[in-house]
Amino acid sequence: MAELDGQVAIVTGGARGIGAAIARELADAGATVVINYRSSADQAEALASEIGGHAVQADVSTTEGCETLVEAAAAHGPIGVLVNNAGITRDGLILRMRDEAWDDVMATNVGGAFKMTRAVLPKMAKQRKGSIVNIASVSGLVGNPGQANYGAAKAALLNLTASVAKEMARRNIRVNAVAPGFVTTDMTAELPENVIAQATDAVPLKRFGKPEEIAPMVRFLCGPGASYITGQCFVVDGGLSA
Ligand code: NAP
Repeated sequence: MAELDGQVAIVTGGARGIGAAIARELADAGATVVINYRSSADQAEALASEIGGHAVQADVSTTEGCETLVEAAAAHGPIGVLVNNAGITRDGLILRMRDEAWDDVMATNVGGAFKMTRAVLPKMAKQRKGSIVNIASVSGLVGNPGQANYGAAKAALLNLTASVAKEMARRNIRVNAVAPGFVTTDMTAELPENVIAQATDAVPLKRFGKPEEIAPMVRFLCGPGASYITGQCFVVDGGLSA
């Protein structure tokens, strides 16, 4: 028997990048995975048929999107796992950062996690069991020029993680965060070549991580081996922040 057998796992932004690797890993652990997407319908449907999961369209920056997603997931069984992975960047120096760049990043990267968590908690509380994993970033632990909005959102996500962990511990709901360093996905493909070179050099392992190198930590945190772990952040960054 696999460790997540009989449980539904929601992965927000699960159609591509780190989210897709997490969806595959949780399916391998026995979960019925609900792959949320906002715009990548074809990738979400293809992944759902590959892993025997379900693709659900929803914009997690909205309350309605989160509630629709949770109800759609609940139709497939008890929701044991929520991975708040959906995230965006709108990088720019603070002096030129527009309000929309701040608001959009906050609304998705921390607002989405808040709204998803609020929507799923009544169900997890009722079953007195649940694991929530928030995908943060090393940019939420240290400052990063050009990422004031993104770093602030990820730092807020870490406090959301700790606060909700303390509130929900008596209901046997654990809440943790994983903070990746640089990972090769569409998000980092947008970076200029010189920034990629500098970033690679700053990583002690001298390379970007792969999405498949982030997902096993999420699997561990959702499973029985992590039953005494809550409110924590685990860094997976090739030594970048060491
Ligand atoms: P990515 O390849 O750009 O994928 C982002 C995902 O988020 C997509 O699946 C996208 O869905 C989804 N998404 C964005 N806004 C959404 C919304 N409002 N509602 C639902 N889904 C939404 O990025 P990634 O690199 O895999 O990043 C995944 C997570 O890891 C993010 O939280 C990111 O901040 C974090 N992270 C990434 C790195 C890195 O180096 N790549 C490092 C640290 C942390 P659609 O395609 O359907 O629009």
